[in-house]
Amino acid sequence: MFVYMDHTATTPTSPEVLKAMMPYFGEKFGNPSSVYSFSRESRAAIEKAREQVASALNADPAEIYFTGSGTEADNWALKGTLAKAKSKGKNHLITTSIEHHAILHSAEFLEGYEGVDVTYLPVDSEGFVSVDDVKNAITDKTALVSVMFANNEVGTIEPVREIGALCRERKIPFHTDAVQAAAHLDIDVKAMNIDMLSMSAHKMYGPKGVGALYLRKGVFPENFMHGGAQERKHRASTENIAGIVGFGAAMEILKGRLQEDKAINSARRDRLIAGILERIPHAKLNGATGDKRLPNNINFSFIGVEGETLLLDLDAKGISASTGSACSSESLDPSHVLLSLGLKHEMAHGSLRFTIGRLTTDEHIDYVLDVLPEIVARRRAMSPLWEDYLKGENK
Ligand code: PLP
Repeated sequence: MFVYMDHTATTPTSPEVLKAMMPYFGEKFGNPSSVYSFSRESRAAIEKAREQVASALNADPAEIYFTGSGTEADNWALKGTLAKAKSKGKNHLITTSIEHHAILHSAEFLEGYEGVDVTYLPVDSEGFVSVDDVKNAITDKTALVSVMFANNEVGTIEPVREIGALCRERKIPFHTDAVQAAAHLDIDVKAMNIDMLSMSAHKMYGPKGVGALYLRKGVFPENFMHGGAQERKHRASTENIAGIVGFGAAMEILKGRLQEDKAINSARRDRLIAGILERIPHAKLNGATGDKRLPNNINFSFIGVEGETLLLDLDAKGISASTGSACSSESLDPSHVLLSLGLKHEMAHGSLRFTIGRLTTDEHIDYVLDVLPEIVARRRAMSPLWEDYLKGENK
């Protein structure tokens, strides 16, 4: 059996999306910047996708700028905003310690290279940022607040609406990385007072290598990509038309099934969580529960075992899962997110993330519940760490 439980790393491009994209790899190859009528079809396709993406967020199409990825959208929001703020004497960025590396490494770059002051807000044991902490961190030098909508490792959904209201009141631009959230949650950029929002198509059954940055009318970071006049002079480079068309189609499909997917995923998520807690002793759920957790995220720590070992054992049984975020899985450092939640190194090392989605069935949940307890028990039986842990417990 092939059980794909890593939908947060990426999703398969859906057949309908692929179908919408295909003509733009073939006969509809015109460059949208050209003046002849043939290329106008490409331009029209991009504008349709812009409307599809905007409509899913309650944004205006003119507020959507396509990028090459979620990472690029994050880089643009942070570096572009801080570059612009410099002329106004503002050089302070507020973000959190659990952001994706696209944000954290951009913040570190700004700190090291541009002399920007960065406040990395802590989170509580479930991964929540406190709105009061955001409030208290604001100074008259603050140029931007960037707090992710939902965390990619543990699925915690942040109080974005409240942070948006606070930033609007204090007239500070607010950016949110919604790369994971946009695939699962209703987002209304107007009602939530969001000024900038990053997205990525491959997390929502669209193609890889295309993202978008929502920029509220009047909010303008400096350009990040310099060159031609594409994206209304704000993001140079010939457009990835097929990718953009796929993104638009994926978003429209997603919007139509969001509530249904949410209900199905949450029920399966909770069954898997309950089953693991019931069948595996000393299993610790990382992150929040219920509505405050992404409907597709299950993240556990199993004391006494290495997450990487579990991954290999699961892979041998046909199950694809993850430890930490996919992008950092080549590193053996414990996840910065789990450490921020207060987990000890040995617990952070023993973490495992299952992220379910359209490829998941009820049988897959049963199968994981069947094989995982045995795998954890076998690995624990060989583990000196587990022995030490038990000795400590029995003292
Ligand atoms: N932000 C978050 C929260 C993510 O989970 C990811 C990808 O895992 C990214 C940004 C980067 O997106 P992309 O893969 O499109 O560069």
